[in-house]
Amino acid sequence: MRIVLLGPPGVGKGTLADHLKEKYHLAHISTGDMLREETKKDSPLGREIKGLMEKGALVSDELVTRLVVQKIEHGLDLKRGFMFDGFPRTVKQAQDLDAALERVHAPLDCVLTLEADFNVLLDRMTGRRVCRKCGALYHVTYKPTAREGICDVCGGEIYQRADDNEKTIKARMEVYNKSTAPIIDYYAQQNKLKKLNANVEAAEVRLAVAAVLK
Ligand code: AMP
Repeated sequence: MRIVLLGPPGVGKGTLADHLKEKYHLAHISTGDMLREETKKDSPLGREIKGLMEKGALVSDELVTRLVVQKIEHGLDLKRGFMFDGFPRTVKQAQDLDAALERVHAPLDCVLTLEADFNVLLDRMTGRRVCRKCGALYHVTYKPTAREGICDVCGGEIYQRADDNEKTIKARMEVYNKSTAPIIDYYAQQNKLKKLNANVEAAEVRLAVAAVLK
């Protein structure tokens, strides 16, 4: 199975990806995670990426696509199946992804688009917490850790993403509406689009996804 998870920030792509990884053993390619890794390097590029992410702006198509294409051509078991989370974010990225997947004879099967109201997204993002070590996702109200500040899975330190504050969230939403939402039409024209209501709890989203992927 070869999937793209599409939808605004905070809609639950990461949570759904964790579930699909477990259920279908798909590889998970999150460009946000890949870029956060780059920012840990104290290099000019790492600092530039960090600045853009903190503003809620997109990193250049060229850089992100280069990271993804490298992964497709050298680091991905194509037989196992995979899902992209947070990529593509522009029509140009979507076109370049299609071209790269065509070169390895592994076109996308479907694009799951998660949709939710702005207030739901804001609530999810301002309450989101992440494990610094293993990336496990939590929410202060809906999925708190058993011990405050400590990951249930690996004991790692829990932190709040620098871009999960109200000001940056609004900027990210604007970027999504302007640059990313047009991808929905792009995939609809390919008849690959499946729309899902993500205003509901994660368990309900999973049921809807299972029905779509059957
Ligand atoms: P995410 O973890 O997917 O919410 O991404 C966090 C941030 O990383 C975004 O706000 C962008 O600054 C950057 N980013 C992630 N994926 C992409 C992408 N496909 N294209 C451009 N920037 C990206």
